[in-house]
Formats: sequence, C-alpha cells, structure tokens
Amino acid sequence: MKNSFKRLITCSALAASASAACAPAATKAAAGVSPTPTPTTTTGVAMNVAPLDSPNTGIATMVARLELERYRATVKGLTRFGDRRQGTDRNRAAVDWIEAQLNSYGCTPTARITYDYKEPPPRGPRPPMDSAARARFERNAVGGGRNRGKRTPTGVNEDSTRQPNAALRALDTPQSVDGERQEVYCTKVGTTHPEEMYIVGGHMDGIGWGEAANDDGSGTALVMELARVFSSPDVHTDRSIRFILWNNEETGLDGAKAYVAQRQALQGIESPKGSGKYPEPKWLGMVQHDMMMFDHGMPNADGTMNKEQRPEADVNIEFQSKSKFADGAEKLAWAFADANEKYATDYPAQVGRHMTNTDSSPFMDVVPAISLRENERGAQIGSGWNPQWHQPTDLFATYTDKDFRLGLNAAQTTLSAIATLTGAQLTTPAH
Ligand SMILES: [Zn+2]
Repeated sequence: MKNSFKRLITCSALAASASAACAPAATKAAAGVSPTPTPTTTTGVAMNVAPLDSPNTGIATMVARLELERYRATVKGLTRFGDRRQGTDRNRAAVDWIEAQLNSYGCTPTARITYDYKEPPPRGPRPPMDSAARARFERNAVGGGRNRGKRTPTGVNEDSTRQPNAALRALDTPQSVDGERQEVYCTKVGTTHPEEMYIVGGHMDGIGWGEAANDDGSGTALVMELARVFSSPDVHTDRSIRFILWNNEETGLDGAKAYVAQRQALQGIESPKGSGKYPEPKWLGMVQHDMMMFDHGMPNADGTMNKEQRPEADVNIEFQSKSKFADGAEKLAWAFADANEKYATDYPAQVGRHMTNTDSSPFMDVVPAISLRENERGAQIGSGWNPQWHQPTDLFATYTDKDFRLGLNAAQTTLSAIATLTGAQLTTPAH
C-alpha cells in the first residue's frame, strides 16, 4: 500500500498536465507485457498501479543493454583528454569527441550551446572566522544537513608536480583562456508529446591535474550510454529526453547557468509554427549525474580510506528541500528510488534532501531537479569521503570493477526511471 500510494502521487504530481507519463504500466499490461495491474483510487484519481516488484519487460530489456564494459570504455575514452579543463584545446577536443559518439549512437541531430566565459578576478583571503562562525562551519554541511563522524581535508589540487605521470602532466598543462565556450546535447524526440521533456545531464569538464575520471567522466559516460540506449531504432518514448554534457561546471555551474539563461523562455514554443517541432520542449524535470563510482564509506579513524567499494554502497538521489520545486523534486527522487528497486542489479538507492553544488542547482527554482551521486555532496563528499576529488589521483586506473559497477547501477536507475516517466516502449521486430 505504501508503495502503491507513493507511485500514485509520483505520477499524478509529476505529470499533472501529462497523465500519459503514468500510463506505461497500464498500457504495457494491456499489451500482455506485465502482470495485471491493481486499480487504486486515492485523492479522487483512479489509476492502475503496478506492484513495485513487477518490472516492465520492455524497460528491463533496455536496462540490460547497459553493459559494464561499454560504460568503462566510455569513461576511458573521456580520460584520453586528460582533465578536460574548460577553456583549453583538450576540453574542445573532448566536446568534439562526445558529439561524434552521440552521432554514432543515432542521437541526432546534435546541437551546441555557445556562451562566453571570463575567469573572475581572484578573491582575496577570507576574513578570519570567530569561534561561533567556526563552530557553525564545522557543524553544518553545504546544502543543508550536518557533518558527522571522521572528516578529512578536501580541496582542489593546483600543483602540477603532484601528477607523477609526465605525459598526463604535459597534457593537463595548458591553462584556461577566457572566451567562447561550447557544450553539446542531443534529444530523443517523443512520439506523442514532443513538446515536453526531461533533461539528463553530467559535466564533461574537470580539474585537479588528473583525468577527471570520476568527476565527472563517470557522469558524462552515464549520460552518453543512456543516449545510446534510448536512440536505438526500436525504442519509442511518448515524451522527449535531452542528453546534455555541461561545460564549466567546475568554475561554478556556468554551462548549466548559460543554458537556463538562454533557453528557459523558449520552452514549449513550436518553431516553425505548425511544424510539430519544439526546439526547447517544456521542462518536466532535470536530473544531474556527478561523481558516480566511489562509495568506500567514511574515512577511517586514522584518515585512511577503505580500499574496496563497501558492500552497502548506494546511489544517492538528492533534491533540495529549500528549492521552489521541492515537492515535485522529492516526488521525482522517489520515482527514481522506485526504479532503482525494480531494475538496478546490485546497489540500492537512497533519497536525501540536500542537493547542492551541481548543474541541477540552476534548474531547481524553475523545474523539479535532482542529482544522482556516489555519496551526498554536502555532508559526505564535503567531509572527504572521496580522496580523489579534484586530485591527481582521479584516474581511470584508480577505479575497480566494483566502482564502475556502482556507476552502472546509477545508469540503470536513471534509464529505467526516465523510461517509465516518458512512457518508453520497445517495438518488437516484424516476423
Ligand atoms: Zn563534478
């Protein structure tokens, strides 16, 4: 009952103007694909709600098209461009490579957002904190929530000599130059509601004199893999999905901010009129993926980290309780948690309310927005739970199969959630 109710409010609230987003369970059942749904009525809305333990076979097939080796190979492909620092040739080459990959998946046409970025003048030293301010700073995590347990220092490595690999050090050496920036996206167009979409993002730029493998090659590869699966000719969705790889995340979410500034007002406008084409479908939700692979737990008492992914590792789905769309974002988060329970092969998901410091933040007062991560950004990553964060050790070779598998489980989670929300179906080949 709890689950049925949760699914009911998820659907009705997320798609008040778009009830078909909630229909897949019913339509698939009518087609004989999933078990008979249980009719449920609350708040005056009658709906067929599938029990939580009955995956849709079409969506399960799509999820099975995600493979560990492919995910790993895509992360590897990104790390060939070093840290992909914004405003450099290696960053531009990575954007070109990502675009070529999206095209090869059939996620066409690709497009780019263009904006200008200028490094702000360096901030002077922060004024010293008095003891009360220091205590608040130690206690409170960024984004809300509290810091607890063992904490280790975090920061951005700016020292090239800490990268022992000479070839990688040379690749990462050219620094950012102010000027034009680009970020690439492609769109799966919905068949019955092309004018509405979910936005699925990760950021392709990095810092720290490594390969930005986890931050955020892992989220970028996840988005690319979803673009591949959804672009398969036998996959159809009622609603549209945009796959976007943000640039300039590490400078302060500037790529995502540019997108919101340029495109918010274009939502839902048909252009040219009468064409049935919507260059910017209405935003139904935004989902960000940033640092997907490393959940080795809290630092040990001596400051060291567990070598292995902890067996109870999870995917952290966060919304921001202080955002204008907190209610919708929370429901979206639970829809993702439900999808994880139904379709993810290994690791569970956890919902939290302190989403912060990521590309979904510029969206959170405009549309329901969530982020998926290896750990909570504020109280956990911010307390040193990922020792590779912005460091020369954020290398492809640092991560094990179990780490990549956590990223794959996040991909399974988002793929199945978005497939459910957009009414994805597989067409069976003609015999
Ligand atoms: Zn990041």
